[in-house]
This record gives sequence, structure tokens and C-alpha cells, in this order.
Amino acid sequence: MSALQSIDLIRLTNDIKAWGRALGFQQVGISDVDLSQHETYLTQWLENDYHGDMEYMAAHGMKRARPAELVPGTLRVISVRMDYLPPDASFARHLKNNRIGYISRYALGRDYHKLVRNRLKKLGQKITDTLAHTAYRPFVDSAPVLEHAIAEKAGIGWTGKHSLTLSRDAGSWFFLGELFVNLPLPIDEPVEEGCGSCTACLTMCPTNAIVAPYTVDARKCISYLTIENSGPIPEALRPLMGNRIYGCDDCQLVCPWNRYASVTEESDFAPREVLHGQRLETLFLWDEETFLKNTEGSAIRRIGHERWLRNIAVAMGNADPDTSILAALEKRSGQVSPLVQTHIDWALARQRKNTSAKEAARQQQRLIRVVEKGLPRDA
Ligand code: SF4
Ligand code: SF4
Repeated sequence: MSALQSIDLIRLTNDIKAWGRALGFQQVGISDVDLSQHETYLTQWLENDYHGDMEYMAAHGMKRARPAELVPGTLRVISVRMDYLPPDASFARHLKNNRIGYISRYALGRDYHKLVRNRLKKLGQKITDTLAHTAYRPFVDSAPVLEHAIAEKAGIGWTGKHSLTLSRDAGSWFFLGELFVNLPLPIDEPVEEGCGSCTACLTMCPTNAIVAPYTVDARKCISYLTIENSGPIPEALRPLMGNRIYGCDDCQLVCPWNRYASVTEESDFAPREVLHGQRLETLFLWDEETFLKNTEGSAIRRIGHERWLRNIAVAMGNADPDTSILAALEKRSGQVSPLVQTHIDWALARQRKNTSAKEAARQQQRLIRVVEKGLPRDA
């Protein structure tokens, strides 16, 4: 009898879930590797060019929807959830004041990639300790993996109309990770979809990037524009970005299910003071060395100093007229790359003409009202 035949897979699955929780994952689910129902959607999304310049999205072809092609021998994917919402999220406070740089809440602390991957490795090792020769491979936010489709199949949540995984008990403020394994573990059932007739994320997205339920055109999404995009930010979209300098949380902020989200238990995700609630000109005047020092171990470091300046310049062009902001823009002007300079020129013109982001102001006010009503923990 082989080791696999003699092991109680149901018991092993229960153990895996208990080990996962002990390692700091709030939820652990198991899915098979048949994601064929997502292939048509993925093909369509890529054909529409909704991935923008994210060529890596297309690079792996349908391997993304076929875990067993990506890692031969894979039979199951263990999907894990780790909550990241910090206790002091200060959503409304930082969105209300357009002279403060707003950073997506997942990026305020330590880079989650390494932390989640290390915990997944520990989980894989625990399984191997129990059942020798188990092959495992962890993925965290990796391009070739359809993490939301997997999470859905594994019963972590359903895919919301904003295209993120959403849970009745935990909202959507969480990271996902996957552990590919070569074991025929019993699988979990998907949960019932819970968006119903709600369309809050579609109507509140500042750039109308959610072009249809479940479909985000990355080229319009502020997360893509401020993080993935290496070129100029389209001028028509700049006024709509308000003070969001790294990512955007709006579609999650307005989601009613996030009333049930829990605050993270990970001290590594606590916001760094140098990034949280800082004035735009303070962040803008960091030289490259300071940027690298202050973002060491943070996901923000990946975008580099040039994109950092580009993004902040846009927010400065959207800020209410302010002499310190104007002075900081003037100070940097002429000493930056051509990419940053075009954004500084745009921002300077708006600051000098007193053109703050009136285009975005009404939408922002609506957002703040929703946030203040819906998220009691918000400071
Ligand atoms: S992250 Fe922001 S810009 Fe992107 S889809 Fe959500 S609300 Fe829209
Ligand atoms: S805001 Fe509404 S439609 Fe959008 S994900 Fe949340 S529940 Fe679904």
C-alpha cells in the first residue's frame, strides 16, 4: 500500500486548515485545478487589451487557467486568506484632505509578498513532514495564477463586481496566496454570490474603470496607472485621481460587505508613519536615497522614485491651491526626468490657475459620506 493510500486525506485536510490558521491565515480552502470556465473570460479580457501594458498577464497564455500545466503534477490548490486592514486606516481623514497623499491601505506596512510566501512555504513543509515526497509550490500575487478564480472555487469568497474576492465574514481587505500541491485532497464548495443588485463599486469608481460587472479595464484603474504603468498618466484621467498616489481603495471602501472586515493581526502590516497621512510636498521632496530608505521592505519600493514623483505631481495638481505645494513643484522643476517634468508642468499650471480637482471633488464627497456612514472604525 502506498503512503498516499494509507493516509486519511480528510484528516490531513483538517490538519492543513488548522496549521494554516496557526500560521496566521484567517481562512484556508482547497480547490481542484479545473478553471476552464474562466478561460473564455480571460481570453476576452486580454483581447480587449484591458491589461494595458501588463504583458506578463498575457505571457503565460492559458497556463494561468491551468495550474497543472504551470506546475506539472498539481492536483489541488490550497488557497489562503490573510487580512491586512490596519487599525488606523483613516480613510475619510486622508481622502478629505487633498494636500495629503493617499496610499492604498495594503501598501502602508511591510511588503506582503515575502511574508505570505514564507508562511505558505512553512505550510508546505508541514505537509511534507507528514507525507514525504509531497510536492508543493507557493504563489503570492503571481502573474500566472488566477488567484480570484481559485479562491472562489476554494470557498474563500465570491468574485465581486469589482473583480476582487469578497467574503461575507471578512469583506475584501485581504491578501490571497496559493499553495499548489500534488495531493488529491477533498475540495471545498464555492460560496453563494452576494453582490445581488448592488452596483456601488461601479458607480463610485472615480475613473469608471469597472466597465461592466466583474470587468475592470486596467488602463483606467488608478491602481494600474500609479503602480504598473511606467509611462505618462493620461491627462484626461489625472484630475479624477484626486490625492491617490499609490493604488486606490474606492471600490472596496464603498462595498457594503466591508462593514464585516476585521482588522489585521499582523504587526508587519501596521502603517509606517513616514507614509501614512503625510503632506504631498513632504513626500515629493524625498530624494531617491530617502525614497529607498523609507520604502525599504515595502511594496511601494518596486515602482521606483520616478513613478513616485510622477504620481505625487498629479496629486499636487489636484490639490487645493497651496503655497507650499507650489513651492515644492517649482523646486523640483527642471531637475527631473522628462516623464516627471510633463506631470510637474501640468500640476504647476493647475496650481497657478487655482484649478484644484473640482472634477473629482463631488465624487470624493459622495465617497466620504459613504465611508463615514459605513465604516465605524474609520478615524
Ligand atoms: S481600484 Fe479605484 S480606480 Fe481601480 S477599479 Fe477600484 S475604484 Fe476604480
Ligand atoms: S460594492 Fe456591491 S457590487 Fe461591488 S463588489 Fe461590493 S457588493 Fe458587489
